Amino acid sequence: MTIFNHSEFDQHQQIVFCNDPETGLKAIIAIHNTQRGPALGGCRMWNYANDEEALTDVLRLSKGMTYKSALANLALGGGKSVIIGDPRKHKTKELLAAMGRFLERTGNQYIAAEDSGTSVPDLRIIEQNTDNVAGVTEHLGIDGQPSNGDPSPATAYGTFIGLKAAVKHRLNITDLKGLKVAIQGVGNVGYRLAEYLHKEGAKLFVSDINPEQVEKAVNELGAKAVPLDQILLQEVDVVAPCALGASLNDETIPLIKAKVIAGAANNQLARPQHDHDLHDRGILYAPDYAINAGGIIDISYERSGYDVEKAKAHIESIGDTLNEIFNRSTKENRPTGEIADELAVERLS
Ligand code: NAD
Repeated sequence: MTIFNHSEFDQHQQIVFCNDPETGLKAIIAIHNTQRGPALGGCRMWNYANDEEALTDVLRLSKGMTYKSALANLALGGGKSVIIGDPRKHKTKELLAAMGRFLERTGNQYIAAEDSGTSVPDLRIIEQNTDNVAGVTEHLGIDGQPSNGDPSPATAYGTFIGLKAAVKHRLNITDLKGLKVAIQGVGNVGYRLAEYLHKEGAKLFVSDINPEQVEKAVNELGAKAVPLDQILLQEVDVVAPCALGASLNDETIPLIKAKVIAGAANNQLARPQHDHDLHDRGILYAPDYAINAGGIIDISYERSGYDVEKAKAHIESIGDTLNEIFNRSTKENRPTGEIADELAVERLS
């Protein structure tokens, strides 16, 4: 296993391999860049097939966090941690406590938040041994509802703002009444996005592997239920991927009829080439890590004493960032994903 020559190694500042035989903890903390501030990113627990897979994941994800925070104008760097193991079988209080001790040793260079395989209660255990944890403080959320630290409402609000910016740029539409939007995945973020759109009179099409979520959207928001393999191909104005990564790929892109793609899912493009394919087809793609930054913005405010109005205003600046990306893309006739990366690097320096 190589480190400095690894394909995902990108001048990472620090990579920590954590081993605690007593609790069985095996974890990797990757601090990609702290130029803008301490590295903030999720602590993932996953049953990786091998160490190599875990290393690849943590290197790639930590770099992504640097770009996301820089693009969102946050005083934060990029980092991520992975615990190797099945969260349903291997997650114990002792193991999480050991993770807290390792986080403490990074000397405030890395702050962990929840991610796949970890939850707010898990982070509260980790927090017993370190202050380097975020996303666990109870406060009034941006939607005016009490929040336990879950960033989903903020992510949904930011996605809604970004979707409106994309629709204005590509379709010159400001009134969402009658706008047709297909949402793939109506979970924590997708359902809340659907609620915002419904309030503005948009017509919703939804799919989810969980039939209860679909039924709720149909009953409460008047959405039309669509089969899983048809949702991205609907005759709609906007497609909003809010489920899995890689939904924009060789199979789906040639069949998409919408002129705008604006959703919250991470890693929507299966390969970098798909950024170009969407651009060539005249489909405006709101880069995932730009439009879904509401959650990380929310968490950053939680760390500095939560101010609802300030957090909300910052989340709304996602619209300005996207406008900058879209305008540059149109002017230079280049894909939006490429422009987002460029802008993130500019803001980093
Ligand atoms: P979630 O698990 O609450 O919701 C995802 C929904 O997608 C679930 O209802 C699930 O049943 C459904 N789903 C899974 N596979 C599907 C498929 N093939 N077709 C249709 N539906 C499917 O997750 P979430 O927190 O709402 O996050 C959604 C996406 O947004 C994820 O990609 C996540 O990484 C990304 N994201 C979330 C946040 C956040 O604050 N929660 C922040 C940034 C990015």
